[in-house]
Amino acid sequence: MSDTTDCVLTPRVPVEGFDPLGVATYRASTITFANAEAYATRGQRGDKGYSYGLYGTPTTRTLEEKLSRLEQAARTFLVPSGQAANALAILPFVAAGDHVLLADTVYPPMRDFALTDLARLGVRADFFDPADPADVSRRLRPETKVVWCESPGSTTMEVMDLPAVARIAHAAGALLGVDNTWATPLNLKPLTLGADIVTEALTKYVSGHSDVIMGSISVREPALAGPIKGLIGRMGIGVSSDDAALVLRGSETLALRLRHQAAVALRFAERLARHPMVARVLHPALPDDPGHALFRRDFLGASGVFSLCFPPDVAPLVAPSLDALKLFAIGASWGGTRSLAAPMPVRASRSATDWPGPDLALRLSIGLEDEGELWADLERFLAALERQAKAA
Ligand SMILES: *Cc1c(COP(=O)(O)O)cnc(C)c1O
Repeated sequence: MSDTTDCVLTPRVPVEGFDPLGVATYRASTITFANAEAYATRGQRGDKGYSYGLYGTPTTRTLEEKLSRLEQAARTFLVPSGQAANALAILPFVAAGDHVLLADTVYPPMRDFALTDLARLGVRADFFDPADPADVSRRLRPETKVVWCESPGSTTMEVMDLPAVARIAHAAGALLGVDNTWATPLNLKPLTLGADIVTEALTKYVSGHSDVIMGSISVREPALAGPIKGLIGRMGIGVSSDDAALVLRGSETLALRLRHQAAVALRFAERLARHPMVARVLHPALPDDPGHALFRRDFLGASGVFSLCFPPDVAPLVAPSLDALKLFAIGASWGGTRSLAAPMPVRASRSATDWPGPDLALRLSIGLEDEGELWADLERFLAALERQAKAA
């Protein structure tokens, strides 16, 4: 071949005997076939075949397989974000005239998606009290196709009775979907509790280093895979192997990170619950949390994210006092190595339940920094609150 052609061709070197522990990062749009017959019959190979980079590479399928094992799922699909996973878990199963039910405490962009995009498509959405499965029964309609849960609820941490909601949804012919981002597939397995679909924001704990955005959709029954696969293919949605490789690498330390972050978070939650500047700590692993019995029954562990509520006279002082933090970074998202604090408004994101007290929950995500230094940082914040409260 000429140099010009040799520049274009990729020489094949033997790969036998090269057996690394990880999977390679396979970058591809085009995938070639041995001959015209193989190309013509590519559609007959089922889900295991490779046909085009968008529809899967060995790298992305390795991550999908790992997640399917952890979720005990028939099949997992990767999508570009956790929110994409949530939206694309519902979309294939609804049409104009249908109805969906969402827990009042879902990740706020899901409320927005339901009230904007589903509404525009003629799908009506209602919200239910996450603490009351009977509220699901009351709001179900003959045309309800999907019940969507998140347990514990975003920021406010209400634990849901998923098996009870699953029975109610299934009796009405609706699917149950669960956003499992807080617990991760290590600490809650919604598909074993009756859920049909589970989503994860891999962006958070599973990737674990705050440098990649990805989501997953896992299904219990193979029959649910087809509609999701079809829709994401038609919409041209897929993820890069580079990003999947980052998530795969992060996932190797998921269990150890989570165990440590959960233990430190619970010790901090217990101490903060006794602090005079704190009105309530929202953490289901605390024995007096309203969701604790369900948490003990269904969860295999906690994660490192929990929230604080403050007395009415203290709440306005929280934002300015956050500037006293030196180690906790102020920012959204969570589940990485760095500890984060994020003041969150609550009321605008609920409609079916009341929120007592000030419209603020301070969400903390415990990272991997030294525990003593992290606590000293929280004490700086609490001292700033006390100083400001005295001055007020
Ligand atoms: C962050 C988050 C999402 C969205 O994940 P992205 O990858 O940031 O889109 C969805 N659900 C929950 C509960 C989350 O915390």
